[in-house]
Amino acid sequence: MADEDRLRTVDEHLSIVLDGIGSIDPIELTLLDSQGLLLAENVVADFPLPSFDNSAMDGYAVRAIDTRDASEEEPLELQVVGDIAAGAKTRSGMGPGLAMRIMTGAPIPAGADAVIPLEDTDRGLARVSILRPVRTGECVRRAGEDIGAGDPALGAGAALGPQQLGLLAALGRDRVIVRPRPRIIVLSTGSELIEVGKRPSFGEVIDSNSYMIASAAKDAGADARRIGIVVDDHAKLLDALENQLLRADVLVTTGGVSMGAYDVVKEALTELGTVEFTRVAMQPGKPQGFGHIGNKIPIFCLPGNPVSSLVSFEVFVRPAIRKLLGKRQLERSTVQAVAIEGARSPRGIRQYRRGVLHREASGGYGVSFVGGAGSHLVASLALSNCLVVIPEEETEVSAGSQVTVMPLLLANR
Ligand code: AMP
Ligand code: MG
Repeated sequence: MADEDRLRTVDEHLSIVLDGIGSIDPIELTLLDSQGLLLAENVVADFPLPSFDNSAMDGYAVRAIDTRDASEEEPLELQVVGDIAAGAKTRSGMGPGLAMRIMTGAPIPAGADAVIPLEDTDRGLARVSILRPVRTGECVRRAGEDIGAGDPALGAGAALGPQQLGLLAALGRDRVIVRPRPRIIVLSTGSELIEVGKRPSFGEVIDSNSYMIASAAKDAGADARRIGIVVDDHAKLLDALENQLLRADVLVTTGGVSMGAYDVVKEALTELGTVEFTRVAMQPGKPQGFGHIGNKIPIFCLPGNPVSSLVSFEVFVRPAIRKLLGKRQLERSTVQAVAIEGARSPRGIRQYRRGVLHREASGGYGVSFVGGAGSHLVASLALSNCLVVIPEEETEVSAGSQVTVMPLLLANR
């Protein structure tokens, strides 16, 4: 077989793609905008948490030693010399043999070293009866017991979810430096395409790819925007791409990469010399374009058939987005499932079949196929929730055998 006839494997193409993906400079974002991103700084506590000794319960601040002999039979009676609410701005003080009523979160007064919970007292206002002894430090949250001033709180690379955002807020950080969401521009090519909202005349097709790919990019963590349709014309395509170079971290086009007479993406970008068009040993998604334009902006040129473009996105673009986000795991996780029906696959080609994955009563997974061979079948694509991966060396999947499945789980569900 001549070398130019050899198809590139999926793994080879993916590693070429990932080698061509650099990194984006960190940016500062407000806390809620940083959700789901990775921290790009080491955060140290400027002050301790808790920042002052405070009560863990509603009760009475006391000196533990005073309560040594207290019991239900012989309660200890103490004079209550004040009331401390959460938010008290100054530190109260009290002498031995006295008590102060104190609320959860309120500062422990000087002179007290423990809190007796309300339920272990008679809840008195002027005088209170204590029904049991209290240990030193009981119901007291010590300053710095959670994190001390100068201690590391979160390291660069930490994923920011609710727990981490809560800590950052508690430490007084309203902004953090993070790896940003890559800005992805999605552009559809094809002279047959029209905008959604119009009713197609004969020969026209509504551009659905840009919605599908932009939403897949958003789901992968990117900041995705579609910029509409470009007709099959060299100059118009190069113009449209040029206009986006300052706005994009990644460009994605669909359509125009096959062997057809009007496959302008391939023609126009091949001339630039920085984008390579190859054939990958996969189905669907054989024609793939990848390279860089402008100031080293990565560009993916995906095939136009909707199923091909989504599969191509999943296999190549999603891992690239995750690399830009700084994530460690770039590829989707897979699960093993029992194939409910059989399927055939050409030798030497990695096939991605649309599937419906479900839980079996036994606890394992089962998967059935939807959509058949056609890469234009968007209705059945919408029924699928996974891709079944049939490896290169396998030519037949028999019903009842184990297959590898890539669930297309939504990040936000
Ligand atoms: P192409 O890769 O340009 O040869 O397109 C392959 C097939 O996909 C053709 O039937 C196109 O009409 C269709 N197609 C291309 N782009 C889109 C799009 N953005 N939305 C829906 N269908 C498309
Ligand atoms: Mg086309």
